Amino acid sequence: MTETTLETLREELQRINLELLELLSRRGAVVQQVQAIKQRDGLPTYMPEREQAMLAELATANRGPFPDETVRHLFREIFRASVALMEAGQRKVLRVGRAPGAPDLRIPVGGVDVGGAPVVIAGPCAVEDEAQLDAVGRKLRELGVRLLRGGAYKSRSSPYAFQGLGRRGLELLRDVARRYGLAVVTEVTDTRNVALVAEHADVLQVGARHMHNYELLREVGSAGKPVLLKRGWSATIEEFLWAAEYVALSGNERVILCERGIRTFESQTRNTLDVSAVALLRAQSRLPVVVDVSHAAGRRDILAPLARAALAAGAQGVMVEVHPDPAAARSDAQQQLDLGEFERFLSAVGLRS
Ligand code: PEP
Ligand code: MN
Repeated sequence: MTETTLETLREELQRINLELLELLSRRGAVVQQVQAIKQRDGLPTYMPEREQAMLAELATANRGPFPDETVRHLFREIFRASVALMEAGQRKVLRVGRAPGAPDLRIPVGGVDVGGAPVVIAGPCAVEDEAQLDAVGRKLRELGVRLLRGGAYKSRSSPYAFQGLGRRGLELLRDVARRYGLAVVTEVTDTRNVALVAEHADVLQVGARHMHNYELLREVGSAGKPVLLKRGWSATIEEFLWAAEYVALSGNERVILCERGIRTFESQTRNTLDVSAVALLRAQSRLPVVVDVSHAAGRRDILAPLARAALAAGAQGVMVEVHPDPAAARSDAQQQLDLGEFERFLSAVGLRS
């Protein structure tokens, strides 16, 4: 007899559980309607004073047997879950993200499709003079490389270091690119120079130091040219994608993501090439992903294996610094390849066209 009663009570408890669940689900549905209105009207998701008022009313209405504190505790959990539900509803799908099954974005530049077959972006760290850039441009042409890089504006760690030729550097890039049928990839470091750089360049580069400069990201986003965005050396993959989202939101989704190494405890390389980032970015975004092996390594002897690793992980291109006389370079002398080394690098990586 006792056993039957216990069984009955247990059944009653499970019925109540199911009723509670039904009520919780209804509550969740109402919460979602509230969230839609809050989002429309720009109201905050979490309103602590409203929670306090609801908890006080519940404690007053409490008939026991649970003590008021227990009732408060249980409802606080319900409120917390409701706020989480609202926040989950608010999380945006990134424009630069990859919807399931979405194809890779291809960005045509200088006769190649970035995002298709692997591309090479090569040239000196900084534009130094006509002869230097001409020698590199001629070699690129000879080797079938279409994208010429080179900094006219250099953001250097030391204010005493070579800062770049500025406007003159842009003109040299434009002239040499025309001479050899190349496209120009060059960095813009300041919102005030975006229009000028966009006049001379085919791709606007945003450097690692400036990835978090949201004003600059907006400005380059509205300049109407493809953007090569470099990952900050301590930026997470999520932060990197958000930076790309800033550019995309300014009306330009033609963004090339460039992994260029992150800071770690390792001292034999300038940075540590984050190969995982390449695979993750390819999975999470439809933007093209390229890898700058030169700034990742900070040395020239391991560039080919790093480039092979990057391509194996899914990178759609490689950036590499090339200088006719690296020893005399005004920046990054220790990592630039000379013209012969560059040719051998391309062969070793399987990128000779
Ligand atoms: C560069 O590519 O010229 C450069 C300065 O690299 P980073 O912004 O990755 O340091
Ligand atoms: Mn450099």
